[in-house]
Amino acid sequence: MKGNNEMSLQLFIPGPVNVEPDVLQKMATVQIPHRSKTATDLQERISKNLQKLMYTNDTIILSTSSGSGIMEMAIKSCTKKRAAMFSVGAFGDRWYEMAVTNSVPADKFKSEPGSPTTKEMVERALETGLYDVVAVTHNETSSGLMNHVYEIGQVIKNFPGVLFLVDAVSSLGGAKVEVDEANIDICIASTQKCLGLPPGLSVASVSERAYERALTVENRGFYLDLVNIVKRVKKDYQYPSTPSTPHMWALDYKLDKIVNIEGLENRFNRHEHLAKIVRKWAEKHFELFAKEGFRSNTVTTILNTKDFSITDLNKELMKRGFLISNGYGALKNKAFRIAHMADRQEKELLQLLKEIEDIWNL
Ligand SMILES: *Cc1c(COP(=O)(O)O)cnc(C)c1O
Repeated sequence: MKGNNEMSLQLFIPGPVNVEPDVLQKMATVQIPHRSKTATDLQERISKNLQKLMYTNDTIILSTSSGSGIMEMAIKSCTKKRAAMFSVGAFGDRWYEMAVTNSVPADKFKSEPGSPTTKEMVERALETGLYDVVAVTHNETSSGLMNHVYEIGQVIKNFPGVLFLVDAVSSLGGAKVEVDEANIDICIASTQKCLGLPPGLSVASVSERAYERALTVENRGFYLDLVNIVKRVKKDYQYPSTPSTPHMWALDYKLDKIVNIEGLENRFNRHEHLAKIVRKWAEKHFELFAKEGFRSNTVTTILNTKDFSITDLNKELMKRGFLISNGYGALKNKAFRIAHMADRQEKELLQLLKEIEDIWNL
């Protein structure tokens, strides 16, 4: 695919991603009543496949909002005492902001740039006895860093009254997240990242413990009230408000492709393979931002050690039919990001890297 405008680019940005035409077509499914058996069956199928993708038996909910909606829902509905918010970059900072702006008592624990949230950090925070919620970013899209949520979950297990909330917005569907094994109470993702769908819908698993906690929390709001949503999904696989059924048709279809056609292991392996190609390329010409052992399989953040213009690069790349991302927030121009998520394949990735080499004379 060659192009010179935004309508025909191969997106190597960390969402929104390109959507396969057959998946996109499912959004045009004829409209159904949201209180119908068809709607119930649709959600039930989605729930079953998302449980497979998340390795959990927990309740699956959708929200007709982007992922930020469920992040806000989770922190507001589940914090009774105080939340310990662990940040490894812009999206961790943002989750903390959501707590603060919702009057949820919270503290932020920020790692050094490029360094992960460690289980020791979490343990130290929980030993104070102040917290009943831990929030962690699985895959920090700004720094290209992937935290070890399984290890962190094992620490949290030793503190029985503490809920574990995980932002897997830019990893679920691209990297393995084993919700039950990792002791995760709420695991959140958006459709426009590794799931390969248009933006506008988000998904989450919700444990019984999280639901029971939310029942005891006051002033959870209305549209994003976790209790209201979980209760209705448990009753008849429907929603208190009108969900985006066009997204649900596309999600249902795409999940079947992910789980039954590509297969979960193949999908995770493909992402890992693409990540390794980008990392190797980046280390040859630049430096990686995230520490070794914590590098993301879905997006790579590369330090702009040669001080090139990222804006000019993207202008030239767009002429050639590609788009990558500048560094996020404080990393703007200091780093650039190549996302390799959803349905990206090796061939187009190699082509992109070749174009960058050509433009920058690497
Ligand atoms: C994109 C992203 C978000 C925000 O998700 P939206 O769907 O845009 O609300 C949150 N966390 C991470 C890690 C992300 O990559």
